[in-house]
Amino acid sequence: MLARVDRHRGPWDFVIVGGGATGAGVAVDAASRGYAVLLLEQSDFGKGTSSRSTKLVHGGVRYLEQGNISLVMEALKERGILRQNAPHLVGNLPFVVPNYDWWETPFYGLGLKVYNLLAGKYGFGESSILSREETLQRLPTIRTDGLRGGVVYYDGQFDDARLLVNLMQTASEHGAAPLNYMQVTAVTKGSDGTVDGVVARDLESGREIHAAARVVINATGPFADTVRRLADPGAEALIAPSQGIHLVFDRSFLPGTSAIMVPHTKDGRVMFAIPWHGHTVVGTTDTPIAEASLEPRALETEIGFILETAALYLHKAPTRADVLSVFAGIRPLVRRGDSRITAALSRDHTIHIDSSGLLTTAGGKWTTYRHMAEDTVDQAAEFARLPEKPCVTAELRIHGFHPHADSLGTLGVYGSDAAAIRELERTEPRLAEPLDAAMPCTGAQVVWAAREEMARTVEDMLARRCRALFLNAAAAIRMAPAAAALLARELGRDDAWQRDQIAAFETLARGYRVAAE
Ligand SMILES: Cc1cc2nc3c(=O)[nH]c(=O)nc-3n(C[C@H](O)[C@H](O)[C@H](O)COP(=O)(O)OP(=O)(O)OC[C@H]3O[C@@H](n4cnc5c(N)ncnc54)[C@H](O)[C@@H]3O)c2cc1C
Repeated sequence: MLARVDRHRGPWDFVIVGGGATGAGVAVDAASRGYAVLLLEQSDFGKGTSSRSTKLVHGGVRYLEQGNISLVMEALKERGILRQNAPHLVGNLPFVVPNYDWWETPFYGLGLKVYNLLAGKYGFGESSILSREETLQRLPTIRTDGLRGGVVYYDGQFDDARLLVNLMQTASEHGAAPLNYMQVTAVTKGSDGTVDGVVARDLESGREIHAAARVVINATGPFADTVRRLADPGAEALIAPSQGIHLVFDRSFLPGTSAIMVPHTKDGRVMFAIPWHGHTVVGTTDTPIAEASLEPRALETEIGFILETAALYLHKAPTRADVLSVFAGIRPLVRRGDSRITAALSRDHTIHIDSSGLLTTAGGKWTTYRHMAEDTVDQAAEFARLPEKPCVTAELRIHGFHPHADSLGTLGVYGSDAAAIRELERTEPRLAEPLDAAMPCTGAQVVWAAREEMARTVEDMLARRCRALFLNAAAAIRMAPAAAALLARELGRDDAWQRDQIAAFETLARGYRVAAE
């Protein structure tokens, strides 16, 4: 990718700052239309919010309750498009709403029928009313006293960080140059005061690059205001950051294949318990915070709230000692109505052009990243007077596309790449061994990540190329030395690098553990 940058002559059509769902979506959209695209991520792809979601590709039952029909319809359509274009990563998951009050079954039964109807041809499955016995069959660990029955509906589930890696590969296959560990440190302006490029530092080599652009897209999510202030130090805040956390437990807390959806927690939110990669993920919270950070930490009150809510619904209440991992993410919520030139193309995401000409795209959710990218590229191309080119992503297969990935076992999330990883295992049988008994991740996946997925550190590997850190922090710590040794072999690093990597990862991973009281 660095060679691609060095070879490039003249300004890029698009320089995208930020390698999360938003930046990756814009890179895929712009590159597949035929524009010249450079994407710069200061850390690893997905280090920000985009690896820390609830892992749902969903219309948002909550928006339906709020009566926001158009938003739900848009998200349900995008859910269907994503499953069609990345079937190896998007699964169909049954969600059960357990009912304890007499009015809940008719109320949620009807609401979820509407949810399904709104999906139209993009439907994931008919919702239906469950008897008490059927509810227990699907959710054997649900609290039984007072249980009347339930309602089942279907939504999508995915692996967020894996989708991001596949989107970067897709963008690159269409000619874009996505780079991780490239921090944008300045925004440059032409003689007329309009933004015409960026300065970025390669955090590995210390080298600085100057990239000229016809349009610079700020896709830095919760960090959007920091980047806007590089162009205009007085820019008023656009983002209102809000933190959400998840707790991860072993599979015994939710042993079936259905998820639990709690439509109203004590604080009026929706909460989910979902089966994911052989574990149980429970979340989330919504806590306004003053400032975004790359490694947000769960607050004690958030951990307590999730444990308390889970105890209301699960027969065996999970305790702090049961938590295998806790991860926090920051929603880049957009403040409304604070600028003359905010173009809210949808209630869900916002495209904002500062007077300097810096274009910021923020808000939305993972599920709608493609639509958000289409809007962004349309607006940016018009603003920069680029030749008009139609969007093609509604039909564009995402790297790894495989119609029957469930037949690929533990390598299902790799889709069409699974065969090449199996081949690595065949030629070097040692690589077929898992790095730890608690996780299926093998040495071959590490080698693959270093060669094909731009993994540069132990954290890139164990947090995002495979999801060990998010599933079981103690197991991830145990896996670090083996991962470091294989990465060092592939990337040509020495022993000192390995020691530093292991130490840095251990420090990080301790933040994903919850001290038992
Ligand atoms: C708790 C939680 C649960 C969620 N669950 C769901 C869900 O289940 N389904 C769903 O559809 N959506 C969900 N979302 C929403 C979704 O995750 C976000 O909308 C999406 O990930 C935002 O992506 P982004 O690219 O805008 O931001 P980010 O992923 O944060 O990416 C921004 C990137 O910009 C980089 N950056 C910052 N400054 C610079 C710089 N100077 N130079 C270079 N790079 C820089 C950062 O390092 C970061 O990687 C959830 C969000 C949260 C917080």
